[in-house]
Amino acid sequence: MKKQRNTAQKRIILGALECADHPTATELYEAVRRENEHISKATVFRVLAQSAENGDILKVHLCGSDERYDGTVAPHAHVRCVYCGRIKDVSLPRTAEVFGVKSAEGFEIFSAELGFSGCCPDCAARRAEEVKAGGRA
Ligand SMILES: [Zn+2]
Ligand SMILES: [Zn+2]
Repeated sequence: MKKQRNTAQKRIILGALECADHPTATELYEAVRRENEHISKATVFRVLAQSAENGDILKVHLCGSDERYDGTVAPHAHVRCVYCGRIKDVSLPRTAEVFGVKSAEGFEIFSAELGFSGCCPDCAARRAEEVKAGGRA
């Protein structure tokens, strides 16, 4: 019985992760909480930690950012906006070709952690507006 309830909660939590964009555990808890008042913060944190350990989801570490979770487990890179901190996926078409390949030093490569930083479209628009406003003043 308890196991069934845990499975249902896990489904809700991982479902929310699918819709969210690399949230922190706290952000995901807040999103889950809006629809499911009975799910505790401890449950959300535990499900995330266990799922990451099982390889069902990814834990994302990017410098300058809190630990975040990602429902996309296929190898991909991330870009973080230096202005608002939002994180998006970057598809690197040739990344997959590297997996399973042996490096020059004889390492077999099976995972990658690659982070970029930049400026998101919203912040670019906002900054362009600021420049315009600044120009007028
Ligand atoms: Zn931004
Ligand atoms: Zn991602």
